[in-house]
Amino acid sequence: MDKSKVYYYDNLSNLKAGVNKFFKMIAEEIKDEDETKVGIKIHFGEGDNDTHVKPELLKDLAKYFKDPIFVECNVLYRGHRLRKDDHIKQALAHGFDFLEIDILDGEMGEDYTEIEIDTKNTQKAKIGKGLKNYENLISIAHFKGHIVAGFGGALKNIGMGLGSRGGKLDMHAGVCPIIKIEDCIACGSCSEQCPADAIEVNDYAVIDASICIGCAQCIAVCPEGVIKIPWGARKDNQFLEKIAEYTLACVQNKNWWHINFLTDITMKCDCFGTKQEPFMDDIGILFSKDPIALDKASMDLVTEKNDGVDPFKKYIKNSYHLLKYGEEIGLGSMKYELIKID
Ligand code: SF4
Ligand code: SF4
Repeated sequence: MDKSKVYYYDNLSNLKAGVNKFFKMIAEEIKDEDETKVGIKIHFGEGDNDTHVKPELLKDLAKYFKDPIFVECNVLYRGHRLRKDDHIKQALAHGFDFLEIDILDGEMGEDYTEIEIDTKNTQKAKIGKGLKNYENLISIAHFKGHIVAGFGGALKNIGMGLGSRGGKLDMHAGVCPIIKIEDCIACGSCSEQCPADAIEVNDYAVIDASICIGCAQCIAVCPEGVIKIPWGARKDNQFLEKIAEYTLACVQNKNWWHINFLTDITMKCDCFGTKQEPFMDDIGILFSKDPIALDKASMDLVTEKNDGVDPFKKYIKNSYHLLKYGEEIGLGSMKYELIKID
């Protein structure tokens, strides 16, 4: 397989100029003037999180595309993006107020379509129904760590992001954390945050694995850090594979372009409604037609800047499986050529 091109812009003092260069490259590839409605898949950030992609860097979208529209789906978690109205309010509060916003899976994630794919774990992916209205889409992703997937980039933004609530549940199901009960202080934070009411706290917390949806919220809120994903006990990489499969369902028969922001790189994802401190200096922004090459290049740059050590390894040892499997099912290539642009 040929190497995919990944474009890299690292003038951190003028990121907007770089983003606009990428928009220009994309606009030149959209051939039919009448088909320029472009879905911009982005994560608006949750609550007090302020390390999501900065909206002011995207303000020129309408200069490059005739009809750009932010597209997103509702989430599984409790918080500000569970319902369409709240989700839009959250987006506006975070400054995404200069384009129309289209929540693709209805009021509560109930409005989905099943897209047929022939893959190992998924035959029908439950995707936000409104995706059918878009032929041209741009993924704009904040590259950062993710407690369950290891890292989040283009694939996570598309596959998990555009899954309807049922689709997100389908991807998460089977990833039930374990609690080191001897160190639990019975504070109840995990139980309060659990969207599935799967945790009971008496002398210590206990998870009912039969109703846990594997969302990992409890892991994030536990003040003692005693809730863990039992990756060692898992026999497969089904969660990661499903993200790749759902991504395939979203990209097939459509035109996608992908931009990753390697800025404000945090250990946790933007779904956590608290402020997070980036753990490394900004790197820049990357663009590619190939989401596998883009995420691979992003991981390589982050690892290189972190003295050659994968910073997200503490979550999961095999996060590259997402990319290897994605390559296997035809999403793209792990081999890439990094092209620096000024
Ligand atoms: S992962 Fe934790 S918060 Fe999420 S459903 Fe399971 S027990 Fe509840
Ligand atoms: S948040 Fe952690 S310490 Fe508190 S009850 Fe849950 S497992 Fe125990």
